[in-house]
Amino acid sequence: MAREWSGIQNFPLATQTKLLELLGEFKNKERQSLTVLVMGKGGVGKSSTVNCILGERAVAVSAFQSDVPRPVMVSRERSGFTLNIIDTPGIVEGGYVNDQALQLIKRFLLNKTIDVLLYVDRLDSYRVDNLDMQIVKAITESFGKEIWHKGVVVLTHAQLTPPDCLSYEEFSARRSEALLKVLDSGSRFKRRESLAHYVPVVLVENSSRCNKNDNEEKILPNGIAWIPNLVETITKVATNESKSILVDQKLIDGPDANARGKAFIPLILAFQYFFIVKGVQKWIKDDIAKEPKSSWE
Ligand code: GDP
Ligand code: MG
Repeated sequence: MAREWSGIQNFPLATQTKLLELLGEFKNKERQSLTVLVMGKGGVGKSSTVNCILGERAVAVSAFQSDVPRPVMVSRERSGFTLNIIDTPGIVEGGYVNDQALQLIKRFLLNKTIDVLLYVDRLDSYRVDNLDMQIVKAITESFGKEIWHKGVVVLTHAQLTPPDCLSYEEFSARRSEALLKVLDSGSRFKRRESLAHYVPVVLVENSSRCNKNDNEEKILPNGIAWIPNLVETITKVATNESKSILVDQKLIDGPDANARGKAFIPLILAFQYFFIVKGVQKWIKDDIAKEPKSSWE
């Protein structure tokens, strides 16, 4: 059962108005619920972002890696509309994707429909590496590459002063570009259908020290009130023309491993018969022919 979304009252009035307007869009489209899946490395600010969207401390946040090792779904209801947010533990451990953690997430998601995937990372990381690609690959292999049509890249720690005299816009654009490139290779999208064409990037600052505008809304260095902006982007992606992702048993099991390569079996048998069996037979025949006849013969 979903609890009443009381956290919405903790937002400044301007944010509340905007959020209710966005929820209204779902109701206009006769949709009763929205399910958002949050994934990414550990410690990047996934849980903090969940709490900021809800306007309350719904999930545990930790500066150290004491993440609850299992996914949590928080459900909040507002005039007949239910918002579900699924927070997950980071799926990386010791430099590798933790397969067990991933399986746990997949099992948790069984029979749920994902309307939006928030892929969370930090804005203030300067490089993307193989690990980022592994995570993206793991997500793609788990839910199919269509999941990225429901994707939003969220970059936290966005209240920063860019290095090297770069402007804030330039810095965030470059960081987004670098990350989207990794998403492309990890999700096996070809360049012409690059994720950059449709996966939006949203900047977020979860810190309580985040600057505010005259309406008391948390703003980024570029002046954007980020909570309404994030929720608006989520709304756009949730209602775009791509289908939401239903996590069923088939998706969890992955492509049937037994069926893979079945088509090659007759070919392999034929190859074995003509090149190996025939070869060996000939070899034996030759051998017999060559053998000196024994005296009794
Ligand atoms: P998770 O492991 O991805 O769920 O990350 P958490 O939300 O638990 O955050 C890890 C740490 O980073 C906590 O100490 C948070 O307070 C901090 N944190 C998260 N997001 C931000 C952010 O946008 N800005 C700043 N300054 N700190 C953040
Ligand atoms: Mg967390």
